[in-house]
Amino acid sequence: MTIERKPAKPKKCRVATCRASFVPQRLGQAVCSPKCALATVEVQKAKEKKSLAMAGRRDIKVRKEALKSRADHAKEAQTVINRYVRLRDAHLGCISCNKPASWGGQWHCSHFRSVGAAAHLRLNLWNMNKSCSQCNAHLSGNIMVYRPRLVEKIGAEKVEWLECNQDLVRHEIPYLKRLKAVFTKKAKRLEARIQCNAA
Ligand SMILES: [Zn+2]
Ligand SMILES: [Zn+2]
Repeated sequence: MTIERKPAKPKKCRVATCRASFVPQRLGQAVCSPKCALATVEVQKAKEKKSLAMAGRRDIKVRKEALKSRADHAKEAQTVINRYVRLRDAHLGCISCNKPASWGGQWHCSHFRSVGAAAHLRLNLWNMNKSCSQCNAHLSGNIMVYRPRLVEKIGAEKVEWLECNQDLVRHEIPYLKRLKAVFTKKAKRLEARIQCNAA
């Protein structure tokens, strides 16, 4: 007894750069030649290598994040909030001198009560205001002039609250991370709005 086999239908080679038409000799044959078979192996190997490298990078990122101290997280949150404050006050001049918003120099975020003296207020938005780099860096905030302007800006009650506040606040890592995430978003939105208004 002979089994009549239907001739196999031609297929297209799976190798993207080949795509030659061929008649499969074996069940499930997907490539036209040994050369193309080898090519698919190489592609597979490259894919595996790439995904391994990516997993490695993710792993490094996770480990780096785990190694960060509370101080590192505080610093990162501070950077983001400082930026937010500069954007929030974009339309204002220096809190401590007469430089107008149009001044072309560098703007800083100046703490009314310094980070060194009142670390618990280092992320307080009333305590943070845009100032020119000169007042912030060279005149330590130019505090004598800062105060009356801050009273004008947020009111005497809030300024007094800042001055009297001696709360023992410890910013924990989850809080700092949340703060960083929230203010990154807020800063982005503010920046987009400012660009919109300028256009
Ligand atoms: Zn082929
Ligand atoms: Zn200034």
